Amino acid sequence: MADKYALLAAAYSAFWNAVDWVFPPKCAGCGAEGCQICPECLQKIRLTSRESCVYCGRALPVRGVCTSCRLHPPAYQEIRSLAGYEGVIREIVVNLKYHSDLGLSHAVAPLLAGLVQSEKWQLDMVVPVPLSEKHYQQRGYNQAAVLAFPLALRLGLPMRARALARIRETQSQVRLNRAQRKANVQGAFLADPLLVSGKRVLLVDDVFTTGATLNAAAEALRSARCSDVRVLTLAQALDKSDAVEKEISIKV
Ligand SMILES: [Zn+2]
Ligand SMILES: [Zn+2]
Repeated sequence: MADKYALLAAAYSAFWNAVDWVFPPKCAGCGAEGCQICPECLQKIRLTSRESCVYCGRALPVRGVCTSCRLHPPAYQEIRSLAGYEGVIREIVVNLKYHSDLGLSHAVAPLLAGLVQSEKWQLDMVVPVPLSEKHYQQRGYNQAAVLAFPLALRLGLPMRARALARIRETQSQVRLNRAQRKANVQGAFLADPLLVSGKRVLLVDDVFTTGATLNAAAEALRSARCSDVRVLTLAQALDKSDAVEKEISIKV
């Protein structure tokens, strides 16, 4: 099984090398030609510290649980985000969201895979946070799945996009308080027990803002008897969640 994924990963890399050769990419951060993320912009990415809250990623003196999460623990076991929502990471999120830039997801996959491997999480599958059917039809792709696919290949795990569905529309989370955000996304997801029962899932999304959506997705997975849910996001936007939610929800 692992060999199959190694072969797929190699084929996928070869494909992107060929695409880059025919259409030389530009750096998402500074526009320099020749790569998706240039070495300078790569260096400027401020990676999050492991000394943070296991549920929300807020910086702490040691890895643990922050006061707020102690009062409201989520349905998932743990979260890691690669970096703050700023600079080249912000550009990548926006490009993934509005331009389906698959090359970028390929470029960040090694960073995301490295983060998962450093945590030594035991996982059975990768599941992207789904869009609603309406938003999927409008956009034509799900940016979380675009991000999750090359990551799953790198990790040698299956990606199970059908394991989780968004079964109702939700409003924008902007200007909603904690309770309203929770109510807004409660019951918005449904997981397939045939796919997730007894399995350890890596739930993937592009940005962590307040965690309400990820928590609702994790609740659905747990209701379908998923045994363990770890969350990975490319970016985290803890203290500017409203501004970021606004920015990434302007268009569909
Ligand atoms: Zn650059
Ligand atoms: Zn916390």
